[in-house]
Amino acid sequence: MCNTCNQSKQSSSMMSNLAHGILGVSKAVLKIDQLNSIGISNRRDICSKCDKNNGGICSICHCIISLKTTIKSEMCADTPAKW
Ligand code: SF4
Repeated sequence: MCNTCNQSKQSSSMMSNLAHGILGVSKAVLKIDQLNSIGISNRRDICSKCDKNNGGICSICHCIISLKTTIKSEMCADTPAKW
């Protein structure tokens, strides 16, 4: 892959991640697609022990874990997913 194509692919991926992040924050703020409190607690417990948790930010998807874990349609970013 040429350098220009590689930069274009990275830029596209960054835009996709940004759009995903804005949608996730919007859902959390507007309380849309919310998981129940037990499910949130279970997810947060898993994230709290995960080596990808970098001070409350997932180092794979760059999401804010306290918000990501509240959204029912979200999935753990790891492969295989932990929740
Ligand atoms: S979303 Fe998954 S990979 Fe990211 S911190 Fe939580 S458990 Fe770890």
